[in-house]
Amino acid sequence: MTTIYREDVTCSVCGHQSETMVIGSTNEFGSSDLDFRPPEMMRSTIPYWLHECPSCGCSADDLADVDPRVPNVVRNPAFRSMRSGLGELSDSARKFRTATFIACELGDYAGAFLRALHEAWVHDDEGDSIRARAVRLDAVDFLHQVHRGGLRVYPEMGADEMVTVDIFRRPASSIAPPGSARRSCRSPARTRSARCSSFSGSCATAGTRAATPWTKSSAGAEWEAGPIVIKVDTHSGNETGRSRLEARVPGVYRATGVANNSSG
Ligand SMILES: [Zn+2]
Repeated sequence: MTTIYREDVTCSVCGHQSETMVIGSTNEFGSSDLDFRPPEMMRSTIPYWLHECPSCGCSADDLADVDPRVPNVVRNPAFRSMRSGLGELSDSARKFRTATFIACELGDYAGAFLRALHEAWVHDDEGDSIRARAVRLDAVDFLHQVHRGGLRVYPEMGADEMVTVDIFRRPASSIAPPGSARRSCRSPARTRSARCSSFSGSCATAGTRAATPWTKSSAGAEWEAGPIVIKVDTHSGNETGRSRLEARVPGVYRATGVANNSSG
């Protein structure tokens, strides 16, 4: 079972003391999703994964123990500007968005990727497919930055690629090709446009994406995002109704996976 308890925490950025909810214990029954979202009961503890200071707005695993560079990020006017644009987000989404910004400013693109992915899970639970789509595309950009630095997010071989496949395997209604993401960036809706205007400096480079052609047919679809080519065969040719997914990273890795089309 999951146990949650209250705890007083002192923010190491501003010194403000507040009460927060901490996960005492939880468990996992079953398999994770393809993007490593854990099963229940841990799955439902996501509102408690991060703690937010009600005074300065810092968001972290543990407000009492943050990277020594974080205070400078939080005190920067860009942080306040970013925070002022998060009014429409839920508490959980706001915490992950803030943590993504902080990770980005620290050059921690693996951390930014994970925070963005976790925010997408929050939007999934809220039924907000538009924001889930936008933040997943940001996550792919951050993952791209990780790989440019010669690093990996997950220790398992091919795991980074499988998560990328999972992001792009989602139906066209919930995940758009890069060209569409660029268009949504200019839309008045506060989805990706909020992120584009919120992130600055190093994040701006992570948010850029070359316009790449994409094709779609009755047999499936193909996207190209940076060095990653994703081919999704949506034809369910077997009794289990599963889709065969294939991801290819030229010159780096080739992975073939099978994913349950109905999983989250
Ligand atoms: Zn604080």
